[in-house]
Amino acid sequence: MFRHPDFDDHEQVVFARDADAGLRAIIAVHSSARGPAFGGCRMWPYRREADALTDVLRLARGMTYKAAICGLPYGGGKSVILGDPQRDKTPALLGAMGRAVERLGGRYIVADDIGTTLDDLAVMRTVTSHTAAATAAARAPLAVTAYGVLMAIRAAVRHVERPGGLDGLRVAIQGLGNVGLPLASYLHEAGAVLTVADLDPARTAAARRRFGATVVEPALIHRQSVELFAPCALGAVLDDQTIPELQARIVCGGANNQLAEARHAALLAARGILYVPDYLANAGGVIDFHQERIDDSPEAVLAAVGRIEPIAEEVLRAAARSGRTPLEVADEMVQARLASARERRHG
Ligand code: NAD
Repeated sequence: MFRHPDFDDHEQVVFARDADAGLRAIIAVHSSARGPAFGGCRMWPYRREADALTDVLRLARGMTYKAAICGLPYGGGKSVILGDPQRDKTPALLGAMGRAVERLGGRYIVADDIGTTLDDLAVMRTVTSHTAAATAAARAPLAVTAYGVLMAIRAAVRHVERPGGLDGLRVAIQGLGNVGLPLASYLHEAGAVLTVADLDPARTAAARRRFGATVVEPALIHRQSVELFAPCALGAVLDDQTIPELQARIVCGGANNQLAEARHAALLAARGILYVPDYLANAGGVIDFHQERIDDSPEAVLAAVGRIEPIAEEVLRAAARSGRTPLEVADEMVQARLASARERRHG
């Protein structure tokens, strides 16, 4: 465990089992230095248990980075339930998961994620108060992650001094799910020209109809002749093979863990491609969670998520000034904040 390639000094990793309820889950608290660890609960039929562990370790770390880069008083955590959400999800299983969260006494706050819904959180709330989406406004269908990506895109486009801003910007969007589709809508409203791909033809057809998007094969989306590539589907899409094929000069999207390895940030920079760190661009969810506890009106939430724009500008400017990649700059900012929080905690 301690030599696992994705183990990054996580504070606590809990294996939760409830045989009666059929629960097999892992909860990872990466850091609680800046506050309770916030992060979603993913339910997925992992092929191997090892894949579940890798996923939860990586995603929990990402949550720490999202919260810290935005200056929020939370740490990072994540949980995974091993199972098929269509087949295996029962109230008993969700109750058992809620009890596992409750046993952490508030060090971990659970949110929805792939394979879990706000209704599932409501079931967990019968046994634990440490869940997101506790207010009615939190359950309003606001596309906060997509809005945050839009803010990061605005910062990047301003940074490269593109005349006209988003108007006429040629964008390729990979994946039209909960993040990609509303992002397409925001970009279309702002005058961008869209090329899209998704495995689901119904989704691409909707984008063609609603936004006049050009539809291409999923395998070709990253190599379109566009100005910006927005990965909004899988992780690890930027690798030794795809980076040389990119024609975009900006990469900014909603997917988690877009780089196959950290060194790929340097490969992008060497090609003159501006990469907005994924954990900053897609931090809308955690900002939303924080804001809802202060003022949960949609206007206040979107204004709070809008802070991603100046933060991205700051990161991109600092990177340009110092000749480092935006990822290096953002990572350093996060690590400095974590170090000072740990110092404060240890007195
Ligand atoms: P989703 O499942 O709703 O949508 C993903 C879409 O990508 C689906 O339509 C799927 O068909 C498509 N897809 C899968 N493989 C593809 C491929 N090879 N080429 C093109 N399309 C493909 O997921 P989502 O909630 O939109 O999340 C997308 C990404 O953003 C994930 O990496 C997720 O971890 C990340 N993310 C999501 C949120 C959120 O609030 N939903 C927040 C932060 C990060």
